[in-house]
Amino acid sequence: MIRAYTIASGKGGTGKTTVTANLGTALAQLGRKTCIVDMDLGMANLGLVLGLDKTPVTLHEVLAGNARIQDAMYEGPYGLKIVPSGLSLQGFQSADPERLKDVMCDLTDRCDFLFLDAPAGIGTDAVIPLTVADEVLLVVNPEISSLMDALKIRILTEMIGGAVGGAVLNRATLDSSDLSRKKIEKALGVRIIDTIPEDANVRRAAAARTPIVVKYPGSESSKVFRRVAAELAGIP
Ligand code: ADP
Ligand code: MG
Repeated sequence: MIRAYTIASGKGGTGKTTVTANLGTALAQLGRKTCIVDMDLGMANLGLVLGLDKTPVTLHEVLAGNARIQDAMYEGPYGLKIVPSGLSLQGFQSADPERLKDVMCDLTDRCDFLFLDAPAGIGTDAVIPLTVADEVLLVVNPEISSLMDALKIRILTEMIGGAVGGAVLNRATLDSSDLSRKKIEKALGVRIIDTIPEDANVRRAAAARTPIVVKYPGSESSKVFRRVAAELAGIP
């Protein structure tokens, strides 16, 4: 059975794209047919961090009604399917996020796991992914602004009939200024599935345009990504 997750946070820069790319790759490594989609139509990063260069057709054209989703799918590591968004402002203006609902069936027919990398904010392009997935996974940093924005997304998701399945705490440090996992869980009202540490290798892997689970498989964050992927795949 296909499971569709939207990776959201409200706030920008929390690590949504990083989590999407690495959870997707980790599930592909487990042999699961996995597809990841860049719903950040305005600030498309997913293709960039995964090293996609030639993408003549993107989600922009699909959401403009000018291409089929299968024509915007590119192969990543371990057979991961990637649907990037385009980089042009014109493409962004032509893309209608409402069309995501029409292409969901075509997407879910092609994979066991689907991850939608949501944009920041609460504009239409951010809200629609919250409604079409089976579950929303929040990415939260251990700081008050990130927590408050994630809380807003949780409330909004429930208001529009969606479901938040859990949260991933990203960029955790040992600094005493970090909000604790317990405090975040209590305030957010959702389970923290796992904690990804602040890890310089995440930035290094992004610079090398390779998922960290491929570039630095032994790093602490890679272990967390594989652990979360195994949990989603139901592997004990
Ligand atoms: P978002 O998609 O939520 O805007 P990104 O995934 O693009 O966030 O991450 C924002 C920046 O933070 C990127 O430069 C990324 O490499 C960096 N980053 C994300 N997670 C970590 C981490 N655990 N440790 C260090 N840097 C991280
Ligand atoms: Mg992003």
